Order: sequence, then structure tokens, then C-alpha cells
Amino acid sequence: MKKQIDLLVRLQEKDRELDGLRWQIREGPERLRGLEKELETLAEDVEGDRSRIQGLKKTQRDYEAEIEDGLAHIRKSRGQLMNIKNNREYRALLKEIEAAEKGNAYKEDRILDCLEELENLNKGLEAKEKNLSAMLDRLENEKEAVAKEVARVEEELSDMEKSREKLMETIAPKLLEKYEQIKARNGGVAVALVNNATCSECHLSIPAQMYNELQRQDTLQFCPNCYRIIYWKESETSA
Ligand SMILES: [Zn+2]
Repeated sequence: MKKQIDLLVRLQEKDRELDGLRWQIREGPERLRGLEKELETLAEDVEGDRSRIQGLKKTQRDYEAEIEDGLAHIRKSRGQLMNIKNNREYRALLKEIEAAEKGNAYKEDRILDCLEELENLNKGLEAKEKNLSAMLDRLENEKEAVAKEVARVEEELSDMEKSREKLMETIAPKLLEKYEQIKARNGGVAVALVNNATCSECHLSIPAQMYNELQRQDTLQFCPNCYRIIYWKESETSA
């Protein structure tokens, strides 16, 4: 029995390592997805700024065209002033000119607003674009590194799976079945070392009589609390 239990302990060590390798294979691509999301957010932000800049430039051009029209209108009206004899018409035209001038002044102020916002946006955009391009480089490097790492770990995993199969062949089928059942129920850990009469997995004490039997190592024992297969190691008593 002792030999079989030793084999189960080795099997469990392998399973732990296999779990670790499988986790490594998942972890890299997950990290990449996180980076890609970050990059996406950054790219959206840059795109938003660019389209705002385009919008502001268009608004600026529109106001400039309207100001030109306004100036033409004002010039024309001033020319007409000379020919007007009627006092009332003269005042009305003066008012019209005044309104057009006010309109132009308002539009000039709006253009200044646009220019100010454009300046701020352009300043921020430069930094954001730098950040984005650095992020792209980083992602490319990470992708390469993760692909290499995954390939390496997959190879290691396949080797370890093969060696696990070999190990399985040396264990009694009934015992192996028990191991798999307990493993499935207990978060992947089926075998627990008992140290100082305490189960190393659930941390509860093993009854004295069971502990004595366990030390004889000739029968299969289960933790009365977590039901894992328990074992004992010679060196543990002196510790
Ligand atoms: Zn236990």
C-alpha cells in the first residue's frame, strides 16, 4: 500500500504542475486581451479628438465665410448710403450696417473660441498619439512573447501529460478511480499530507488511532473531515 500511496502523491504533484501549466497557457492571452482593450479605449479617445478638431476647423471656416459675406454686405450698404435722400431710409440702412457689424464681431469671437479649443486639443492629442503608438509597440512585443511562451508551455504540457499517463499505468485502477473522484470533488487536490496529526489540506486533526494506523502505512486512510486520501512521511515526526 505504501508504494501505491507514494505513486498517488507523485500523481498529485504532476497534476498540480499540469494545472500550473494550463494556467500559464491561459494567462498570457488573457493579459493580451486586457492590453487590447486598453489600446482600444486609447484609440477611441484619439479618434474622438481628431473628429472634434475636424468639426472645429469646419466651424471656423463657416464663420470666416459668413464674415466675408457680412463684410461684402456692409460695403454694399455703405455705397448705397450715398444715394439715399430720405432720412428714414438712411437710418434704417445705418441700423442694418450696425447689425451686420455686430454679427461679424460675434462670429470673430466664436472663431477665437474655436482657435483656443483647437490649440488645447492639439496639445493633448500629441501626447495621446505618442502614448498610443508606444502602446501599439508594447502590444506587438507582448504578442510575440506570449506566442513563444504559450508554444513552449504547450510542449512542456504535452510531455508532462505523457509522463502522467505512464505513471497512471503503475497505479491500481480502483485506486486511480478513487483518486479521480476525490480530486473532482475537492478542487483538484485528492491527496493530503498529515503533519503532526493534522491534515495539510483542511487543517483539522486526525484522531489518534487513525494517526497510528496511518503511520503503519499498510492501509488506505481518508481524512475524516475533507475525505481526501491522507498519507504520512517518516521525516514529519521529527519535525
Ligand atoms: Zn482533511
